[in-house]
Amino acid sequence: MLTTNAPDPARSPSAAPATTPAPVGPAPAGPSTSAVHAGEARQKPGFSLTDPIFASSTYTFPDTQSIIDFIEQKQTREEYGRYGNPGERVVEDKIAALEGGDSAVLFSSGMAALVGLLMAHVNAGDEIVFFDECYHRSREFCRKHLTRFGVGFREVKTCDYAAMEAAITPRTKFLVSESPTNPHLSVVDIAAFADIGRRRGVLTLIDATLCTPYNLRPLTAGVDFVLHSATKYLGGHNDLLAGAVIGSTELMEPVRRLRGIMGGVNSPHNAYLLERGLKTLALRMERHNSNGLAVARFLERHPRIERVLYPGLESHPYHSIAARTMRGCGGLVTFFIKDADWRQTADVIDAVRIPRIGPSLGGVESLIEQPLVMSYWNYTPAERAAFRIPDNMIRMSCGIEDADDLIADLAQALDRT
Ligand SMILES: *Cc1c(COP(=O)(O)O)cnc(C)c1O
Repeated sequence: MLTTNAPDPARSPSAAPATTPAPVGPAPAGPSTSAVHAGEARQKPGFSLTDPIFASSTYTFPDTQSIIDFIEQKQTREEYGRYGNPGERVVEDKIAALEGGDSAVLFSSGMAALVGLLMAHVNAGDEIVFFDECYHRSREFCRKHLTRFGVGFREVKTCDYAAMEAAITPRTKFLVSESPTNPHLSVVDIAAFADIGRRRGVLTLIDATLCTPYNLRPLTAGVDFVLHSATKYLGGHNDLLAGAVIGSTELMEPVRRLRGIMGGVNSPHNAYLLERGLKTLALRMERHNSNGLAVARFLERHPRIERVLYPGLESHPYHSIAARTMRGCGGLVTFFIKDADWRQTADVIDAVRIPRIGPSLGGVESLIEQPLVMSYWNYTPAERAAFRIPDNMIRMSCGIEDADDLIADLAQALDRT
């Protein structure tokens, strides 16, 4: 089998496949132009405007010499589907361009991306430090699983940069944060975070799922890796799962190689859906940003609302850092119903007519949920208090519907219950 001849399962990581020649001309600059054109060949097979879906698990060679040329890296092309496919490479190049990074590797989900990145870069004896509001499955992977392989795990309070720096030991390999966090929407000072890593010689990772490259580009602030659950805003249509890691070519090389072994690739069909979703990223984000702000402002004035968490509001503890660093604050809004127990809060959720009730975020359809029920039902009250998940908390992911309709719907739900 060909792969047994190959010293490295991903010999041509950044290469465009032979069937889709590299894009010609200057790199597109703005986020809208990049979202539409970056990563794509100008002329495509069949003279098609859109990228074809190559529904193939394997790629053939015309003769033996072509195989040898490929192995000796004289020819860049596809070989076998577990190492990638042409559609996935287009999406990787598009996401890398959007983030202003050298190289992106796509995974079958955001969690596969996190596991792949950390497994490629940490060794037994290393330690990882997280801000404590990071996605609970990411922390669970480190706490329950990486520790089985001798990798240490620490958590410090989100946005406490002194605590993060104090947690660094000579064994620390990674500093990890999310920004904004979910559901509290804390906004990290990315430059300060990157600076700790640079000064202390520790790799930095930002899970930028909630901000997207439209609102903030952490690599340009000096972070080593950006991670996305592309399931959310990048795909944007609640119809796929995918993940991505972006970083320098040198640091991404081992990640790509490990993915070729783990097998966490996307099917060509899934990659196509993601490419299609990405085309409208900038347009969608403009609407998510404006809807999020409009809904947050409406809720903040409503007599039944105790408090709203949205970084675009002046009342948010991280408003000034958000205003200074982010183009917009996205569609996620967290709010608390005044003097309501969990059932009265659930009644508000059950009374809305436009947002659908479910987990996830970042798609064109608005979604609403009560974190107590959706994610913390089996936790003790003390644990919920530690995670700061009160019974009266609601999280809404504003989609791209008309803001007036979303507001009218929330108004009727609040008035009716
Ligand atoms: C959803 C999510 C993930 C996990 O991504 P999947 O695509 O569901 O595996 C990781 N981080 C954040 C911030 C998320 O919202």
